[in-house]
Amino acid sequence: MPEETIIITNYKACDSIEAEIKPKNKLNIKTVSGMGKKGKVTIDVIVNYCKGCEICVYFCPEKVLAMKKEIAEVIDISKCTKCNICEILCPDFAITVEE
Ligand code: SF4
Ligand code: SF4
Repeated sequence: MPEETIIITNYKACDSIEAEIKPKNKLNIKTVSGMGKKGKVTIDVIVNYCKGCEICVYFCPEKVLAMKKEIAEVIDISKCTKCNICEILCPDFAITVEE
């Protein structure tokens, strides 16, 4: 989940609450889209969150992913079956698989 700072300003007991949500860090997301084995697929890797544990690379049954400079990277999206194993197993919510 993205880290967020919630700042509440101008608060009065029976007044409106103005809430401002400021992301702490700008997210660096590497997106790769293409046609996989089961149709269109988009894989996002949130670089800020990836700790380089290699779990997604190791468990992807189609070898779609690889490590590059200790960050997971899509190397062959055409093999992706949208099984979502990488997304489910990532302990840091750093990878997502969508249509
Ligand atoms: S499982 Fe998550 S944290 Fe680990 S290498 Fe893959 S994307 Fe990065
Ligand atoms: S969705 Fe499945 S096939 Fe596609 S990259 Fe993730 S683990 Fe590999």
